[in-house]
Amino acid sequence: MRQRLSVETYARGVLAGDRTTLSRAITIIESSLADDRKLASQILQNILPHAGKSIRIGITGVPGVGKSTFIEAFGTYLTALGKRVAVLAVDPSSKQSGGSILGDKTRMEKLARDPRAYIRPSPTNLSLGGVARHTREAILLCEAAGYDIILVETVGVGQSETLVKGMTDFFLLLMLAGAGDELQGIKKGIMEMVDAVAVNKADSGNEGAVAKAVSEYRQALHLFPETASRVPVQVVACSALEGVGMEPIWKLISDFHARTSESGFLQQNRQFQRTEWLHEQIRQSLEDQFYENDLVRQHIASADEAVRTGEKLPEEAAADLIGLFLRSTIQTPKNSAKS
Ligand code: GDP
Repeated sequence: MRQRLSVETYARGVLAGDRTTLSRAITIIESSLADDRKLASQILQNILPHAGKSIRIGITGVPGVGKSTFIEAFGTYLTALGKRVAVLAVDPSSKQSGGSILGDKTRMEKLARDPRAYIRPSPTNLSLGGVARHTREAILLCEAAGYDIILVETVGVGQSETLVKGMTDFFLLLMLAGAGDELQGIKKGIMEMVDAVAVNKADSGNEGAVAKAVSEYRQALHLFPETASRVPVQVVACSALEGVGMEPIWKLISDFHARTSESGFLQQNRQFQRTEWLHEQIRQSLEDQFYENDLVRQHIASADEAVRTGEKLPEEAAADLIGLFLRSTIQTPKNSAKS
């Protein structure tokens, strides 16, 4: 087992902005070992008063739209302004592949070498819920380490956007020009979540198609109800490859941040996100305790079989198992003790 440091050493190192300690602390929060969870919680308690000061930006878009190229260009633009930038990823494929399709250091080589930037490869072998929990905690650690801007990258598929939306202040969707029916391909739900759309690959020579796409997206967005922030959704063009369009994007994000700080929406949204996090944590923790419970483990295979053969309905089998679980936690309090 890898060596662990004391809570104070982690907290001090993170607060001093030491990247090695930050990485080691994130490794602790990604661990599912009971001792590490305890240590993680103590580290987080220690750094919490120093977290929360960054602008948290979620970035989504289909594979190939240019997310990593964009993060490299945008991150480099921000560090040149003197900002400290951390990049995290929520990667829904990590469970199946055991590897990562996002956030690899090799895909953002320039930014990875930048002393003002920190790139954390996406955690592997975790469920999406697990990745989301750890990413939230990693955001807090990065903030305590002094990063002003946190970029959270996610592939625009499945539930991951909702999770990232639930942990960021600003949500940016990258799109492509030139595909007339593209808009239909993007789920309506995602369009409702975004604070801005950036049409990428607006390279020199491609301006016409991009301008057309920008105006189409603008028109389409008019059909959506006003966002909760009350700041109008912007549509802009950029070329991540050529590093063009970074300044307007930063300007619209910093304007959004200023306006929502002033209106109180930013703070309210973060409060709401914390309560959502609590309830997700409750669900996750109950589920973990349920499946780790000895009695449940003894009976789950026969319940599966009864449901599979149609002998029992899932609802009935679930109620039986939950009944067993609840009775066992009452009889043996150690089962219900906090892990
Ligand atoms: P991701 O899958 O969304 O992370 O996309 P990548 O950043 O890996 O980019 C996919 C491909 O698109 C790569 O070959 C990039 O070089 C290319 N690409 C990204 N941004 C641009 C751009 O602004 N213009 C052009 N022409 N290509 C780009």
